[in-house]
Amino acid sequence: MTYTPRALALLIGLALSACATPSTNAPPLPSDEARTASYLQQIRERPPYLDAFLRRMPKGGDLHSHLSGAIYAETYMRWATADGLCIDRTKLALVPPPCAGPDKVPASAANRDPVLYGQVIDALSMRGFLPVAQSGHDHFFATFDKFGAAQGDHFGGMLAEVADRAGGQSVSYLELMASPGMGAARAIGKAAGWSDDLAALRTKMLGPQMTAAVNEARREFDAAERAMRQQMRCGTDSAQAGCAVTIRYLAQTIRVFPPEQMFAQFVLAFELAKADPRIVGLNLVAPEDDPTAVKDYEIQMKMLGFLHGLSPEVKISLHAGELTPALVPREALRFHVRSAVLVAGASRIGHGVDVMGEDDAPGLLAEMARRRTMVEINLTSNDTILNVFGAAHPFESYRRAGVPLALSTDDEGVSRIDLTHEFVRATTTYSLGYADLKTMVRNSLEYAFLPGESLWRGTAPFVKVEACAGAQTPSPACRAFLDRSEKAAAQWRLENEFARFEALTWPQQ
Ligand SMILES: [Zn+2]
Repeated sequence: MTYTPRALALLIGLALSACATPSTNAPPLPSDEARTASYLQQIRERPPYLDAFLRRMPKGGDLHSHLSGAIYAETYMRWATADGLCIDRTKLALVPPPCAGPDKVPASAANRDPVLYGQVIDALSMRGFLPVAQSGHDHFFATFDKFGAAQGDHFGGMLAEVADRAGGQSVSYLELMASPGMGAARAIGKAAGWSDDLAALRTKMLGPQMTAAVNEARREFDAAERAMRQQMRCGTDSAQAGCAVTIRYLAQTIRVFPPEQMFAQFVLAFELAKADPRIVGLNLVAPEDDPTAVKDYEIQMKMLGFLHGLSPEVKISLHAGELTPALVPREALRFHVRSAVLVAGASRIGHGVDVMGEDDAPGLLAEMARRRTMVEINLTSNDTILNVFGAAHPFESYRRAGVPLALSTDDEGVSRIDLTHEFVRATTTYSLGYADLKTMVRNSLEYAFLPGESLWRGTAPFVKVEACAGAQTPSPACRAFLDRSEKAAAQWRLENEFARFEALTWPQQ
């Protein structure tokens, strides 16, 4: 028979109390949290054990996940086969039928041709990628055009895949980036044309067509969520793990279009967020080094700042500083993060990889720490797209400056990872302890765009609001507080998950 340290300590404690006067100097039992931290220290050099531990560890939210990039290539292939799509053998892309011509074969043909199947999976993802004829950056972004046709009407299936993967690794909250309605918005922008008078331009764009785009996007979310719940059998005895995951959305605008189309996308994103509580904010995506994105960066930030001034309740997270000197001229490295925070009003930054190259980087970091501007850290994505990893990544610079951080996946399907993978990577790369990880997990809900007051009245260290201080069972005052704050309720659930996780007994190493 073996005993865990906790059981042994209990037995020793019982023996002592049975045969002697209890000593007031006996060392206190280690807390569950301390035991858990100690176990992590034991296994930190053994990735398989670390993976099992971190898979089980509550991870709160993934705040930076592009829905289309979160789907694995095998799923896209399955849908392409079912929907009668074709493979363009030259481009190794999924394309609509007819499958005519020497280069096009039915997607189903790949199921009988393992070589072709493997080539397509590699082309739709970073699997087996070697930067020989193409950079990681170019291969990565090219995947989106190659699998785009397979999305069809699988919005609900996409949600189910991502939600269930989250539920299976103790992720309780997702803020997924998705773009319903953005094509319609760009058409409105194109028709409206450009004007420097943003107020007048907004009024011009806010007409029946914009209202229709909002309503249609909301209908798409409704239908997708229904399909997702059905696929995961939510509400039945055989409900999948994903049913327990809370999902919210960020309206995903695409940064490579002319100003009038960009502004129309932003207007739609703000209107969506105001109209539908599921859409908790917006983001700006696509390669930041795209020539149009570089040229128009400042005007795009001004547009966002203008709209945020009108509707400050709509939260903004921005990809900013996903750049290196290899991708863009020096000028573009000097201000993107600062401008996202100070001009556009972003309360979170995605990536922020080039931050140390910005003008007055120490001042910028101090300002971000003061404002509590959280950075969404995507380690694998930054490695494969930007070739920035390890000590060259600003992870430690942010930490030292006191800027809040949380780990996220970016595009877990394309990168063939999950959030657990990113936790393993961060733990081993930056020698993180349990307290460091727990802080990032708590940050993922503290800086989530869920509405309501926080459970925490302080975050360094984390201290609960008075109404909810104390035990795992909420008092009536705490219950009332949790009932009126979605954010605090999610945070309370996370703390209970931590309590259960830390009570686990792990095999001794
Ligand atoms: Zn991203």
